[in-house]
Amino acid sequence: MEQTAVSPTGQVREVTQADREALRAQRSEESSPLVAANSIEAEALREEIILVGRKLWERQYVDGNGGNISVRLGAKYVLCTPTMISKRDLEPADICLSDLEGNILAGDRLRTSELLLHLVIYKANRRARAIVHCHPPHATAFAMTGTAPPIGLISEYETSIGPAAVAPYETPGTKAFAETVLPFVEDHNTILLSNHGIVCWSDTVTHAEWLVETFETYCKTYLIAQQIGKPLNFIPASKINEILALKRRLGYPDARLARLEGRD
Ligand SMILES: [Zn+2]
Repeated sequence: MEQTAVSPTGQVREVTQADREALRAQRSEESSPLVAANSIEAEALREEIILVGRKLWERQYVDGNGGNISVRLGAKYVLCTPTMISKRDLEPADICLSDLEGNILAGDRLRTSELLLHLVIYKANRRARAIVHCHPPHATAFAMTGTAPPIGLISEYETSIGPAAVAPYETPGTKAFAETVLPFVEDHNTILLSNHGIVCWSDTVTHAEWLVETFETYCKTYLIAQQIGKPLNFIPASKINEILALKRRLGYPDARLARLEGRD
């Protein structure tokens, strides 16, 4: 197909070799770490990470320097929180730029050691664009027992999360720890990390934090319901199927859909 370009005077003309070289130079410039780190997109994502960090701290989902947040920046980079900082106190200069191997390319601080967990998820599931890891007390109580809360009790929870996975215990920060989530990351956006906390992935940092809120509140509400001393009323299977049909339409992950589609 013949290629054309528009000249500054508005005339359509053939694309020249110089045009192609200029385009190539522009593309390689766009992909340099420095340009990526200083882009308007990176600036907005850093602000979102800072805001979500404060929300996690205010809701008591992170303690001490615990928890971490990351987000994809284009195809090659990840912005992530640094190690040894409270998520209440983040500033733009604290946010690290990493490649997909965990090498820090920009930022004043050392990255979180748990970035390996985030990178495993990004590589395994292209739909994961942002990740929040934290230690909310009610969800982490389930992680201490190595069990997920039962499903079929709250319609909104079913829609946004559904069955949560439980990854086996490994020493945090290690490659073995990061890989514990691999069997679950395709069909679960929320994973309990045994004897540790939880990790949620979504399309944005804000949405990943919403999953954390939804999961923690669900765990808390379930534990309160247990104290009432009455049997739990479960949502009928036919109504759960309506929710699953909606999730399929929206492209939301759910291990029950994977089973129905014969993928597990
Ligand atoms: Zn942790």
